[in-house]
Amino acid sequence: MSKLIASAAIRGANILVKHAEEMLESAISKHGESFTFEFPDTAFYLPMIYAMTGFAVKTLGDMKTALENTKSLLHEEPEKDLWKPYLGEALDSGMATLFAEEIILALRYIEGLEPVKDPETGYEYNGFITDTIQRNLGIQLVDGSMPGFAAIIGAAPDDETAVKIVRELQEKNILIFLSGHVNGNSVTKQLLRKNVELGWDTYIVPLGPDTEHTLYALDWSVRASLIFGGKKPADYKGHLKYTKDRVFAFALVLGDLDEIKWTTGAGAINMGYPAVCDTDVPVIHPTGVCTYEHVDKEFDHGKIVQKAIEVRGLKVIVEKPPIPVSFGSAFEGERIRKEDMFIEFGGQRTPAFEWVRMRELDEIEDNKVIIVGKDWEKRFEQGGKMPIGIVIEVAGRKMQKDFESVIERKIHSNINEAQGVWHMGQRDINWIRINHNAKKEGFTLEHIGIIQNVMTHSRFKSIVDKVQTTIYLDEEDVLRVQEEARKSYHERDQRTAGLTDESVDTFYSCLLCQSFAPSHVCVITPERLGLCGAYNWLDGKAAYEIDPTGGNQPISTGETLDSLKGRWSGVDDYLRKASGGAVETMNAYTIMDNPMTSCGCFECIVAIVPEANGVMIVQRGHTAMTPVGMKFSTLAGSVGGGMQTPGFMGIGRNFITSKKFLYADGGLKRIVWMTKNLKDGLKEAFNERAAEEGVPDLLDKIADETIAEDSEKLLEFLTNVGHPALEMEPML
Ligand code: SF4
Repeated sequence: MSKLIASAAIRGANILVKHAEEMLESAISKHGESFTFEFPDTAFYLPMIYAMTGFAVKTLGDMKTALENTKSLLHEEPEKDLWKPYLGEALDSGMATLFAEEIILALRYIEGLEPVKDPETGYEYNGFITDTIQRNLGIQLVDGSMPGFAAIIGAAPDDETAVKIVRELQEKNILIFLSGHVNGNSVTKQLLRKNVELGWDTYIVPLGPDTEHTLYALDWSVRASLIFGGKKPADYKGHLKYTKDRVFAFALVLGDLDEIKWTTGAGAINMGYPAVCDTDVPVIHPTGVCTYEHVDKEFDHGKIVQKAIEVRGLKVIVEKPPIPVSFGSAFEGERIRKEDMFIEFGGQRTPAFEWVRMRELDEIEDNKVIIVGKDWEKRFEQGGKMPIGIVIEVAGRKMQKDFESVIERKIHSNINEAQGVWHMGQRDINWIRINHNAKKEGFTLEHIGIIQNVMTHSRFKSIVDKVQTTIYLDEEDVLRVQEEARKSYHERDQRTAGLTDESVDTFYSCLLCQSFAPSHVCVITPERLGLCGAYNWLDGKAAYEIDPTGGNQPISTGETLDSLKGRWSGVDDYLRKASGGAVETMNAYTIMDNPMTSCGCFECIVAIVPEANGVMIVQRGHTAMTPVGMKFSTLAGSVGGGMQTPGFMGIGRNFITSKKFLYADGGLKRIVWMTKNLKDGLKEAFNERAAEEGVPDLLDKIADETIAEDSEKLLEFLTNVGHPALEMEPML
């Protein structure tokens, strides 16, 4: 290891620990040692300290203890004439730095200094990354739509270069964290000056203006190990191996480095994250702690992203249709405000629909885009609004009618991933906008067709042999074909409504989350979707046809061992193998006896409320207290990581209105508390199901956060309204 880097890392760690000590002393004299603190919306205290040491820092007094312990990781700077391998000392110092930085940032939160608001631009940085955001990103992390994470520290030589680097990362769907500065200038400021949209939706997340704010990204990545990996607090070896093997992060350090950057970098190297700098730094090439090189340099900003990808060993495969704007899931969250809009379609303003229909191979011409409309170019050039009907016709030897809806659901991402083009809704309630910039770049309606053809081929390779897209732009055509489409939507709905667990002999597994939660297996049945809510049985079936060796495998149900609880011999056999022996058996229809495991990206948690003889349901993003005395983040901490936890279970939101929801435990009538968000969002389907169960007014008898946040008040309410759960068989 370079002596220069080791000395700087050791020096930086000493500086930061001292700084943390001074800040802590002043905070204790102001607030006292028993003053409590927690970062917003996390169940993991000060996550880095908690993960590595198992010590839960809850008070200023705890911070003092943690900081004392941190000092044992500090070292003396190597003497001038002493040459030796310093890797161990530098890595120790890096870890001490991360602990000190975590305490410094916590203390800044206490003093109301975080998240930082830039006095110059008024921009408010993200600050600490919550558990909710981490779980929200679960799917992108595992399905390949977000293959890696880049922390950019410092500032590019000029604003244009900053935009170029960030756009390149966005096109590769890499999530970008920004922190640090060089003489007050930073990539965040450079992007703001260039009007680049920042935030989670565009994969560009400015954490804070200082190098220390990089810790928020590292805190986030170590929680992946706690949440998804099921690694225990204090298992520091396990955490470091997990982050190295499963979290594909790296740093781009732009501009000059100081001790704080070097020592934070040494902390990141502990976790397996290398750095590529654009200045003439000593490199660290021997592999070991990181998968490949630890520190490297690249002066050409046109090559620096590629270099970092190689150094981290990241696999990035991005399919880009030939269109004049950028394309990738990082652009999916872009919004188009009215002032930026050039033209829009649908959204109740004009008639519109989108429809995927299966055709015979000889009925369509592959990759053809047909646009039907009188003088459509002229009308398009005027901007404003236009009707639109998009018909995507697909043919293939392995294509099935059931896959139409699966392909149709991807229209949303296909269109949204084009920069400057926005899509919402589906079927005949779709809404599309194109902004002025995209129009200026030469984007036309033909490109919408090209995107559909290319992306349908790319996403559904083995079931689609031919794709042809027709776009209707005259109102009468749109209305006429829309009627045909509506008949087809209706037929499909009828078909899927008839799908029950008993009507099939094959379920599908989803193993995508195993890249983060190695023992977790989602068993997807016609009446139970995956717990992230993103995959249903038809998706599983289509995904298997598309990629027979991929993450969705058929599970032959075999003999039914328990029809009430939902247990099958074939499912048990499969689970034993696919979970690496961690799961022996599973019951799909009960929460009390070997329920399905949870990975961490579940949409909702169901938890038993013993006092009320029922269950409560809380969705991700709900940050208030629940009647079991735990917030979502705390509950999630004990449910995830591929564990079976009787009485607690992660589920997809739509499972609540399935006939098989807690079927063996009494079904819907067991729900005694549910957030208002869930009650409002599921109202129609819920009331229908409740009526089938003979309790049409059940939703009114279920409490929410506006009625009760503790079990006492909950019980009082349930007794007053005569909730059926109080009369049911005891759950325990
Ligand atoms: S269905 Fe299950 S395993 Fe698959 S991505 Fe969703 S939560 Fe993960």
